[in-house]
Amino acid sequence: MSDAADTKYRERMATKKQVVDERIARATIERGVLILMKGNGKGKSSSAFGTLARALGHGHRAAVIQFIKGRKATGEYLFFKDHPQVNFHVMGHGFTWETQDATKDRDAALAAWAQAEVYLQDPNYHFLVFDELSYMLKYGHLEPERVAKALAARPAHQNVIVTGRTMARELQDIADTISIVNDERHAFRQGVKAQPGIEY
Ligand code: ATP
Ligand code: MG
Repeated sequence: MSDAADTKYRERMATKKQVVDERIARATIERGVLILMKGNGKGKSSSAFGTLARALGHGHRAAVIQFIKGRKATGEYLFFKDHPQVNFHVMGHGFTWETQDATKDRDAALAAWAQAEVYLQDPNYHFLVFDELSYMLKYGHLEPERVAKALAARPAHQNVIVTGRTMARELQDIADTISIVNDERHAFRQGVKAQPGIEY
């Protein structure tokens, strides 16, 4: 780099640092957040489980409820199920695209949400993942008002991530962070088979 370019670079970084430092100084509130991961792209559940690893690294106690059960045991389940700081639930009877039994699916959703409410009232749990919860709302198995009410009333320091392609308005209204994972390209559409360690 020439001296002039070097100086310009240093000035640019100094300005950037000032802007970032000011933003950091303004963010002083300490409390838990509700994060929604939505959209049609790949990366919502992976993001939630990446954050689970992050929380556990800090010794936080965590619980996971997966509202959709596939036919296969997922890598995240196999990895986290025996972790002493994690309670990992895969919804009882297991809603899948194949059950097609509304009463059974609804009962399973209600039972899983009852478990979720237990965690949402327990300050010992610092981090919760409700994976694919949005499907239960989309198919009418759970009332969005009930779900939003329990989320809003949780302990102040508790962090929650909810994943799912679409999110009910009631959840978006109370969320702190909403990320949209866009579907720009997916290997599946090029005929690549779902593989362990990447898809599940
Ligand atoms: P992941 O668990 O990989 O982070 P996700 O939670 O964002 O994915 P879901 O809607 O839960 O996505 O879909 C679950 C499965 O479908 C994953 O195996 C994922 O790779 C796959 N998938 C996600 N998006 C797409 C897509 N746009 N086209 C095809 N398959 C997809
Ligand atoms: Mg997912």
